[in-house]
Amino acid sequence: MQINTLNFSVCTKGFNDIIDVTNDVQKILNESGMKEGNALVFVTGSTAGVTTIEYEPGLLKDYPEFFEKIIPLNKVYHHNEAWHDNNGYAHVRASLQGASFTVPFTNGKLLLGTWQQIILVDFDNRSRQRNVIVQLIGE
Ligand code: ZN
Repeated sequence: MQINTLNFSVCTKGFNDIIDVTNDVQKILNESGMKEGNALVFVTGSTAGVTTIEYEPGLLKDYPEFFEKIIPLNKVYHHNEAWHDNNGYAHVRASLQGASFTVPFTNGKLLLGTWQQIILVDFDNRSRQRNVIVQLIGE
């Protein structure tokens, strides 16, 4: 068994920007030459998350709308009082979302469904450059 820890970066616009990173992860897997195992995809930072979705225009609106309903942008957050960076909502959303997603692979291919993409969601209130770690465990 081997472990390969690799990374790539993504520029986002913030404010629930949803980026499809499936091809980036598959490319890293291809370059590793590994055939069988698990790929852990993790975003560094406390205002972004990683998960899976069907990357189509409807859901790209539904998902942020869901977060706006349960964790509104314009509400009093204690975090904002502490740091005055006004992104309390982004931290809470990111915590609920989760920072990582694991997908198995075999024959060097991620075992995702046709309508299932890996996404990075940037909740922050400004554009960011995000570092995405991909840790491959297998052979
Ligand atoms: Zn903050």
